[in-house]
Amino acid sequence: NFITFEGSDGAGKTTALDRVVATLNDSISTPILRTREPGGDRISEQIRNVILNRDNDEIDAKTEALLYAAARRQHLVMEVLPALAKHQLVFCDRYLDSSLAYQGGGRQLGVQAVNDMNQFATGGLTPGLTIYFDLPVEIGLKRIADNRSDDEVNRLDVEEVSFYKRVHETYNQLALDHPERIVKVDATQQPDQVYDAVLTILRDYLNR
Ligand code: C5P
Ligand code: MG
Repeated sequence: NFITFEGSDGAGKTTALDRVVATLNDSISTPILRTREPGGDRISEQIRNVILNRDNDEIDAKTEALLYAAARRQHLVMEVLPALAKHQLVFCDRYLDSSLAYQGGGRQLGVQAVNDMNQFATGGLTPGLTIYFDLPVEIGLKRIADNRSDDEVNRLDVEEVSFYKRVHETYNQLALDHPERIVKVDATQQPDQVYDAVLTILRDYLNR
């Protein structure tokens, strides 16, 4: 069982994952792999450094998309596929939908093109369930700002706001296009309510 958590920056995916994984570890016997992209192996870490340690105007959008796909492939082969083969429950913080939203929508490469490129990387492995943390752009940006230095906040320019709007719109469209897999959670709620909502979705899914 492969389950992914998706949504814009500041939506609370990581916080909710911490709590639901702790709860499930105490209540079900299936071993859980909790991971994120790019994964913890040496190659993925190096790709991660290349992706994160750069300015936006310094990297070509297609190069960035290819690096994410390369990291995704490596992480799948090293971490996710072995765990699935052992019938573990895999929770991944971000997966393919992040590339569709950020590179396809945000960076305007097109969802179809980014998806095609990722089919080569993933061999078509699709999550059984994706929990999408839906957060209005304005609230997400405010949450990011609270976690950043003033200097970084000043760099949140008009271009960046429209980037995040495209990311959010693309996520919403993906949720409409894939109702069989993607379940939306209202991420404007308090952390306790988000946790309850996510746990209910997971219990429903696992008991099916
Ligand atoms: O939220 P998380 O810490 O997982 O994401 C790290 C950063 O990488 C975020 O700022 C997100 O905007 C960015 N990202 C991206 N494209 C992806 C995945 C993440 O731009 N495909
Ligand atoms: Mg996070």
